[in-house]
Amino acid sequence: MSADCLFCKIAAKKIPSKIVYEDDEVFAFEDIGPQAPTHILICPRKHFGSLNEAGLEDQAVLGKLQLIAAQLARKRNLLAGYRTVLNSGEAAGQSVFHLHLHLLGGRAFRWPPG
Ligand code: AMP
Ligand code: ZN
Repeated sequence: MSADCLFCKIAAKKIPSKIVYEDDEVFAFEDIGPQAPTHILICPRKHFGSLNEAGLEDQAVLGKLQLIAAQLARKRNLLAGYRTVLNSGEAAGQSVFHLHLHLLGGRAFRWPPG
């Protein structure tokens, strides 16, 4: 856990959130500013500031984020179309520096993203 990290505090339940999934490696909760009818953030419990801090030894947990996203998409009947997004670095729109995968669904999405 990183002392000043918002998402580490959410994982430790020191800050309230709407948790929708958790196990010993991963936790997922509703985004506070949803950009689609479903907008969930899926995080590793291990603190990575961004994808830049992860290595090949982390492949299992990083792959798990995607698979939990697919599981949640199925649970919410989103299999016709959903999007998973991982912003790395400020220029890409990252604003919270604890690695997280966005799961967005329930509306149509354009390509390329903005
Ligand atoms: P990013 O811009 O990719 O780093 O995504 C950060 C996301 O965290 C944004 O979509 C925010 O709406 C969301 N967020 C920030 N604070 C909270 C919070 N306390 N609870 C839930 N989501 C949050
Ligand atoms: Zn953290």
